[in-house]
Order: sequence, then structure tokens, then C-alpha cells
Amino acid sequence: MSATVAEVNAVIERLWPLSGAEAWDAPGFLVGEPDASVRSIHLAVDAVAESIDEAIELGADLLLVHHPLLLRGVTTVAGDRYKGAMIGRLIRGGCALVAAHTNADVVEQGTSGVLASMLGLREATPIVPATDPQRGIGRVGMLAEPTSLGHLARRLAELLPATATGVRVAGDYNHPVRRVALCGGAGDSLLNEPAVLGADVYITSDLRHHPASESRANSAIAGGPALIDVSHWASEWLWLDTAAGQLRQELPGVTVTVSELRTDPWDFAIVQ
Ligand SMILES: [Zn+2]
Repeated sequence: MSATVAEVNAVIERLWPLSGAEAWDAPGFLVGEPDASVRSIHLAVDAVAESIDEAIELGADLLLVHHPLLLRGVTTVAGDRYKGAMIGRLIRGGCALVAAHTNADVVEQGTSGVLASMLGLREATPIVPATDPQRGIGRVGMLAEPTSLGHLARRLAELLPATATGVRVAGDYNHPVRRVALCGGAGDSLLNEPAVLGADVYITSDLRHHPASESRANSAIAGGPALIDVSHWASEWLWLDTAAGQLRQELPGVTVTVSELRTDPWDFAIVQ
């Protein structure tokens, strides 16, 4: 059984409505012919050469990624640069491209929701609720049992796929933690949200020196969370299995596969 690209795209928009996307975001239907038929869909976090080649080699008719390939304006799709080359490869390979980005972050079983479930967070609610209070960016909830910051970081390291940079932590290994705030992907913009400030620990990715340093300095004076910084790719990769399951349910007969390629850009780290 097959569906058309337009039909698959309609399912994608129903599961992850574009109305949920941030104003700066550019998810949705990016490459392909609406009438082309789709017998198989491949899922990946990033539309990079490795995942696109993998999708085409697998014979996928549609690649669903988390990160939009064309987030900022482009003035050429010539094949001598990354984006043009990727678009050319997709078109030649007969593979459509659709992205579900912040619109897939905010839903109940979005990137942060999946990570919260895997950690067993109870009564998890969005850090920044949308109009529908069950939806929104990030999650905050309680661990079933209190634990230490170190044990929580080890647990995350087991849950997440392996990356060169692993799991970095700011805070005392034995610091007790129970209330956990988290945001899959880059979440430093949420550091001053009340739900994050009121948590024992905040888990996110791409924490830079100044936001992390200021957050820790503020915590020492006014209270605030310990920080756990994980791989951006790894934190979002976990969501792909859930997304694949939802697509299989909506599109019986269409094959749905998940890429296991590590598209985290870091290849190795020297631990001193
Ligand atoms: Zn991301």
C-alpha cells in the first residue's frame, strides 16, 4: 500500500501541527512532488549527506527530519554548496523531504515529552505552556524517587545514544535531585523560566559558557538548578522512534524506518 507525498504530509501536519511551530521556524514540506507515491518513509534528526544517502539507498520515498534544511534564506541551490547539493541528491533520488521541528517539540509526545517519559517524570508539564496547557516547549516533572545528580547523569548516558562529548554536568555529584526540568535540543533560552529556576536540575543541550556560568552563579546566590548538558542530536534522536510509531499507526502499509547514523557533528573529545 502507498500514499502520496501530499497525503503523508497531511498526516505529518495532523500529528505535529505547523501552528505549534515558533515564529522563526521553517518546518514542513521542503522537497518533492505532492503526487509522488510513498511506500516507505525514513526518519533522521538532520538532513545531511549521510542520512540522505541512507534514505535513498534504502529506497525511501520520503525523508522526515527534525531540523529544517532551509531555515534561513538561500539565494542558490547550486550543487557546489551543502544545501543545494542535498536538494539535488533528494530530487535525483526521488526522495521527498519534510521537517517537523518546533512543531514536534511542543506536542505531548514531542522531543521533550519523550525524554521526560524515558526518565519516568511524573506530572510532567511544559516549561512554557502553549494555549493548550498540555503542549509547549520543555518539560518539568518529578522523578519517582529522589536521586543524586551523578546518578541521573549516568542514567541519561545510558538512555542516550553514544556521542563523543557524552554528558557534561555542572553541580555536585551527590547533589540531591527530584524535580527535573528538561528541553530536548538547544534550551539555554529557558534558563530563566520560573519552572527551570524552581527545578533541582535542568537537562538540555548546547549550553555555552556565559549562560551556563551565569545560571550557576545565580544558583549560588538565589537558588537554581544544577545543569546537565547532553548532545543536541542525541536528545532529539530519542524522539524518532515515537514519531515512527505514530506514522505507522496513521499509515498502515507504509514502511517506516529510523536512521541510527550518528549525525552529532563532534567526532572525538580529549578528556584531560
Ligand atoms: Zn534540534
